[in-house]
Amino acid sequence: MIVAIDGPAGAGKSTVAAAIAKKQGWQLVDTGAMYRAVAYQALERGVELDDEEAVCQVADGLKFEFRFVDGVNVIYCNGEALRTEIRSAEVSRAASVISAHPRVRRVLVDQQRRVGAERSSVLEGRDIGTVVFPDADVKVFITASSQIRAQRRVEQMREQGQEADFEEVRSEIEARDERDRTRDVSPLKRADDAVEIDTSQMSADEVLARVEGLIDQVQ
Ligand code: C5P
Repeated sequence: MIVAIDGPAGAGKSTVAAAIAKKQGWQLVDTGAMYRAVAYQALERGVELDDEEAVCQVADGLKFEFRFVDGVNVIYCNGEALRTEIRSAEVSRAASVISAHPRVRRVLVDQQRRVGAERSSVLEGRDIGTVVFPDADVKVFITASSQIRAQRRVEQMREQGQEADFEEVRSEIEARDERDRTRDVSPLKRADDAVEIDTSQMSADEVLARVEGLIDQVQ
């Protein structure tokens, strides 16, 4: 079973993807974390983000695994757990820059297909239903207004004890979406056969119930 969950930043993909994976005992593949890990490593090594060849070499050297540890999905990169270091605003921006390089995408998409083929999986990202698994059993495209997405992100950051300025968060989210939507390769867009869910006025439980309903239809 492959469940593809795509959509813009902060629409609620991770929450629903994690809930489904946990409930069903399926693998959760957070593809955004893979782009973030490449961006983080590139920044650490002082690699120019515009240098496709150099960023591609970074991506080539990273091997990813996804495992639930104490009920939390942990992404391992070359055997080491990745945590908050890949969630900073700097890494978010860098991830959306390096993810526009076609060769970098090819390297990561190959790994996503490989890990997804091993067992039933929920994959979340931007191009899962369009490119990575166009034949996924269930495809959803999750959206919400940028106002709501920024509000949720600000609340999440404050809960984690981080300072957050609403306008700054909103303009960062909008700039990232714009880059993701307008890139030439695998832009963020709804697959023709994906079910769109606007979560602006929905609770996390309502979104989960909706996606579970779609899974029930194909099981
Ligand atoms: O989902 P998340 O916000 O962690 O993704 C970070 C960035 O990685 C996105 O803004 C996007 O540029 C890139 N990405 C992508 N394709 C995916 C997942 C993420 O281009 N499948």
